[in-house]
Amino acid sequence: MEFLSQHIIKNIDDGLWKLVRLSRNGHPLSRLFFTDDVLLFAKETKSQALNIDSMLKQFAKYFGLKVNATNPRFSSTRRGKISSIVASTGISRTHSIEKYLGFPMLYDRLQRRDFSFVEEKISKSLASWQHKLLNKAGRMTLVKSVLNSIPNYYMQLVACGALSTPPLLERSGLKNKNIGRNLHLYPVTMASGYFPIAPELWPEEHKKSYEGGIMTAMSTVATDFNKSGYGAVIQTPSSHPGLFSILMPWNSGTDIKDRMHKFSRTAHVFALARDQASGTVVDSPNRISYQMKDVDKDNLSKGIEKVLRTMAAAGAEENGTHNNKGRSLKVKEVSYHEFEKFVNEESSMSFTDLSTPVCSAHQMGSCRMGNNPKESVVNQMGETWEVKGLYLADSSVFPTALGVNPMVTIQAIAYCTTQHVLEVLKRKR
Ligand SMILES: Cc1cc2nc3c(=O)[nH]c(=O)nc-3n(C[C@H](O)[C@H](O)[C@H](O)COP(=O)(O)OP(=O)(O)OC[C@H]3O[C@@H](n4cnc5c(N)ncnc54)[C@H](O)[C@@H]3O)c2cc1C
Repeated sequence: MEFLSQHIIKNIDDGLWKLVRLSRNGHPLSRLFFTDDVLLFAKETKSQALNIDSMLKQFAKYFGLKVNATNPRFSSTRRGKISSIVASTGISRTHSIEKYLGFPMLYDRLQRRDFSFVEEKISKSLASWQHKLLNKAGRMTLVKSVLNSIPNYYMQLVACGALSTPPLLERSGLKNKNIGRNLHLYPVTMASGYFPIAPELWPEEHKKSYEGGIMTAMSTVATDFNKSGYGAVIQTPSSHPGLFSILMPWNSGTDIKDRMHKFSRTAHVFALARDQASGTVVDSPNRISYQMKDVDKDNLSKGIEKVLRTMAAAGAEENGTHNNKGRSLKVKEVSYHEFEKFVNEESSMSFTDLSTPVCSAHQMGSCRMGNNPKESVVNQMGETWEVKGLYLADSSVFPTALGVNPMVTIQAIAYCTTQHVLEVLKRKR
């Protein structure tokens, strides 16, 4: 499948494959690979259909497989052009892409009748009960435990990330005013230290900034986790030449050439603030509104100060931040006072006038979990207050910023949410 995927990517790059959006602002799609099913998306033209046909044949040839002439099928939302596609490729047309894990794959504009099968299932269950033999309480219990869970089986789980889940919910008609609010970002700012190849000072000659384990160390020296619970943690990112050149300040052509020349021996360390400020995903993943609070700026300043001192203590010859003034300090050639002055000035730079890049790799909280729909979007099970059976399982449900890297917590929350979904499905049986 990797081969097929690479082949499709090459086709897209060469302009041969025309991507399709399933909704107006949706992501352009070319393929969805399931365990035992493949869905390919392309424009409804004869040339696109021929392209897919030839790719499937090539794929089959390379792997000694045979494409079953009756199995690949295509569906289309338009009425025209279809017969010529069928005739040229031999791939037959279907009006229904059937079901995946019991859920019908609906691709056209949804209509009420598309879900009439849910009503039919409920009617069937009702008809099979010997209701005359049940008292009112018994009937109520059956309705609650069996009938309620039938629609739940067709429930949806959304995990588009903290920036894309809110617009998806809004496009789907959800109205909870908390959707998109409470966005936390963990603002990050960095400093760098140059460690030249100097065996007498810095023995690890083979060491390269882009090799080896990343995130192998984290320091809480600039946090106040025991008291306020907030502060900035210090960590190491990995960077490649592209990222490095974007982040590094621009003084002149010669200067950036010199910095790039030192890339492999330049270490980056960053301060990441557990933010008390929060923002909003405005109406698309590309537009957010966020104002840093002074307390978060102070925490970043304290963090970057520790970073500069740590680098110097570790033996960096040259220290600098990403501030656009592009200053750097030859640590070993300056006096104690000069070093202190540099650290104080660089760590008190502004974080709001765009003179210093502030980055974010961790967005969370934009559909937060809570006790009631007035303050949150989902309940403790990850289910939206507004639509029963609609679950969120990504970083958007965090009630607040965690203070540490979120991936493991996201996995834990997603695990708990899916366990609950399984419980609901079991009750249905
Ligand atoms: C450079 C970088 C380094 C990081 N390093 C770490 C680290 O070391 N440790 C750590 O804990 N965290 C790290 N993170 C953060 C971590 O990757 C994220 O917090 C985490 O991946 C978020 O998980 P999620 O499930 O909420 O969203 P995502 O992982 O963003 O998943 C959302 C998925 O939904 C898809 N999607 C979006 N919209 C739609 C749609 N409309 N329909 C269908 N699919 C859609 C997206 O393509 C994506 O695949 C890092 C992030 C970055 C950018």
